Parts: sequence; C-alpha cells; structure tokens
Amino acid sequence: MIPVLDLRGRAPTVRELRGTLPRAELDVEAALAAVRPVCDDVAARGADAVLDASEKFDGVRPVTLRVPATVIAAALSDLDPQVRLALEESVRRARIVHGAQRRTESRTQVTSGGTVTERWVPVDRVGLYVPGGRAVYPSSVVMNVVPALLAGVGSIAVASPPQKDFDGWPHPTILAACALLEVEEVWAMGGAQAVAAFAHGFDGDEVLDPVNLVTGPGNIYVAAAKRLLKGLIGIDSEAGPTEIAILADATADPEHVAADLISQAEHDPMAAAVLVTDSPALADAVEVALARRVPDTKHSGRVTESLTGRQSAVVLVDSVDVGLDVVNAYAAEHLEIHTTDASAVASRVRNAGAVFVGTWSPVSLGDYCAGSNHVLPTGGCAAHSSGLSVQSFLRGIHVIEYSEEALREVGGHVVTLANAEDLPAHGEAVMARLAEPT
Ligand code: NAD
Repeated sequence: MIPVLDLRGRAPTVRELRGTLPRAELDVEAALAAVRPVCDDVAARGADAVLDASEKFDGVRPVTLRVPATVIAAALSDLDPQVRLALEESVRRARIVHGAQRRTESRTQVTSGGTVTERWVPVDRVGLYVPGGRAVYPSSVVMNVVPALLAGVGSIAVASPPQKDFDGWPHPTILAACALLEVEEVWAMGGAQAVAAFAHGFDGDEVLDPVNLVTGPGNIYVAAAKRLLKGLIGIDSEAGPTEIAILADATADPEHVAADLISQAEHDPMAAAVLVTDSPALADAVEVALARRVPDTKHSGRVTESLTGRQSAVVLVDSVDVGLDVVNAYAAEHLEIHTTDASAVASRVRNAGAVFVGTWSPVSLGDYCAGSNHVLPTGGCAAHSSGLSVQSFLRGIHVIEYSEEALREVGGHVVTLANAEDLPAHGEAVMARLAEPT
C-alpha cells in the first residue's frame, strides 16, 4: 500500500536524502498561488472578503464573524461531561509542562558600570488558529491558549472555521474549550482568510484589531497563508499537514506501528506517514496490518490517500544507524522510536518536532494528553524551528546600560570598528561624549 524506497546498500548524504525522501513541499507552492488572492482581498475589503471566502470554502456565511458570548457560554453548558473531564486533564497536563518553560530575566555585568539585561516580554496581541475543516480540533485550543496565557499575552483572539451544521459558528466543542480557558474573543473564520484577517484587521460593522503573532496548526492553505504573511505578522512555525515518521527495528510490534501510521494519516489526505526500518520482515508485517486495518477505520478514504501518496513511504535501510541519518535528514513533525534501547536511539535524534520514545508513547498521546504541545513544525521545518511553547509568545529585549567610565573604557574599540566599517559617524557618536570639552 505505501510506496517503498529501498536505500539498502547505500549510505546517502544529507543532500541526497533531501532530494529522495518523500515530501509534499511542492504543494505548498501551489497553495501559495491559491491563497494569495484571498489574502489580498481580505487586506482590501476586510470582513466582506472573509465572509465571501467562508461561503466559497466552508459553504456557510456566518451571521457575524465574532462569535457572541452567549453562544460560547452555551457551548460549555452543553458539553458532554466526559469530554469536559478529558479537556480539563489535557489542560492540567499542558499547564504542568508549559509552566516550566518560562525564561527569566538575566542581567549580566559585562564590566564595572556596564550591564546588559535580557528581558522576556510577551507579544501584545495574538491570533490563535484552531483547525476545523475535515476534523475539528478543540485540543488545538488547549495547545495554543495554555502557552499564550502562561507567557502573559494580554490580548488573545481565537479563529476557527464556521461550520454549516452549527449555524455558521465554529464547532461547539471548540467554543466550549475556549470558554473553559476563559477566552472571550472568538471569530468564525477559517483558512487563509482567517490568517489574513488576523494580520490586517478590519473595521466597519465588526472590528478586528490586527495581531502581532499568529500561531496554530492548519492545512496546506493555512500554512501557505502563514508563509505569505510572515513579516507583517510573526508566526510560530509552518505547522501544516501532519507527518509521522517511525524508526523501527525487528523488535517493533507491527500492529502498533500500523495503528500509529493510520492515526496520523487520518488527519488529511496530504498527511505524511513514513516508516524507516532495517527489517524487511517488519515492513512486510506492517503492510499486512495496514491492509487489514485501513478498510475498517472510519476515515479510510483519506487514510488511503495519505498512505499511498507521494509524501508517504516505507524506507528500507541497512541499520538503525543509517535509519537515524534518514530521520534526521527528514526532520519529521512527529518521530516515533520503536527499537531496542529506544531511549539511547532517541538521544541521537537531532531533527524532529517531537520524539515519542518506545511503544508506550504513541503520537496520539502527545496529540491530547502528554502535556507536550501538539503544534509542531512540518515540511522539514523541524530542522530549524521548534514546536509551540511559552517561548513562542515572548520576545527577548536586550537592555544596555553603561556608565561614563564603562563607555570610556571601551570607546576606543568602538571608534576603531566604526572606522573599519567606514561608518565614521558611529565613532563620532561616541567621541561626542568622551572628547574633553575645549
Ligand atoms: P483547517 O481549519 O486547517 O482548514 C480548513 C480551511 O481550509 C477552510 O476554512 C477553508 O477556508 C480552507 N480551504 C479548504 N479548501 C480550500 C481551497 N481549495 N482553497 C483555499 N482554502 C481552502 O482544517 P483541516 O482541513 O481539517 O486541516 C487541519 C490540518 O491541521 C490537517 O492538515 C492536520 O494534519 C493539521 N494539523 C497540524 C498540526 C501541526 O502541529 N502541524 C497539528 C494538528 C493538525
């Protein structure tokens, strides 16, 4: 079912691997072309453009874009008590992990009378995206809002696609999760139009203040809009269609491996599922397990599209060591390790959004209740970006404070370097202070 890439007998370089390993990168380019006119229209026409795009892409035009407080409150009152309990546990665990992430101010005495302090300041206003196309993601409310709150962000807005079946409001479980976390500003907007509305803001009958930063997962159109508008807004990372890579040896349980590949393929036909193994016998057993499980799973259509797509593969390698090279080059959003001594193998992983160690740590645990964040970089971005955390909502500001003596001590070097760069006015700014009065 999954395409096979046989790398046995080869020791490919990182460059070769980047060219060979399956990836849906080209599709982001196509999505960029699709979302550019949507984003431009929102910049020009504001709320009307968002409503038109909702009608086109979500098949519904909400009465208002801002979700009324009464609708949000009712969603929590009507929430299934079991779902409420599970959400509360998810929040509790996320608070534990994210509560330990906050960096503290550091003040460094560089010289007598000269200090540099690094302050960590939350962004003023954020737009948090919660997906709601093929599936709805109340868990993404938790993953976005908990770190934003713990970072101390003063103004939080959430957007999620309007749903045809719920009077054009976002899914009630998403609204209930917002209520649980006391988020009051919720917008019925999805896709690129939501990201553009956050970036540009709009006024008229309804007023949306632009945000400084947009975070959250989404499909290829959301990821493309974040790439397009980055700069005008900050973004967390391109947290696009889900990816799972599994590094497994002959000791892995093929049923667990197959179940986990399916669990992530279920997100999106564009989701990527990659098994890297040095055991052809395991690869065969996983194929058998997939063939049995896929037809029975609820979303077998999109799971099949994902697993058979060019973004998914079984990669056969000579050893776990080569497998590590492969997964490090691939830089998956989620990486599971199913090998002997999984912890030791995991400690050698350099590139991944999150690593799930051993058979008792499936990605689904991290999706909901491990305490870790599920908003993670995709498309190879895990080689340079991190998952969402408290840190994502903070900026480090250096505060420089030197006395006259401290400036006098180093002023000559500043002048020398300024002249070396042919920027003499820089040196003159120092000399204007230090030269003896005539
Ligand atoms: P979504 O909210 O991301 O996307 C729905 C929106 O896509 C719609 O509101 C619509 O406006 C837009 N859209 C649909 N078709 C379009 C088209 N042809 N042109 C322009 N815009 C269009 O919801 P989803 O579709 O269910 O996707 C959720 C995504 O989030 C999945 O890909 C999933 O894998 C991903 N995800 C990623 C992470 C992560 O951290 N990387 C975590 C969870 C989920």
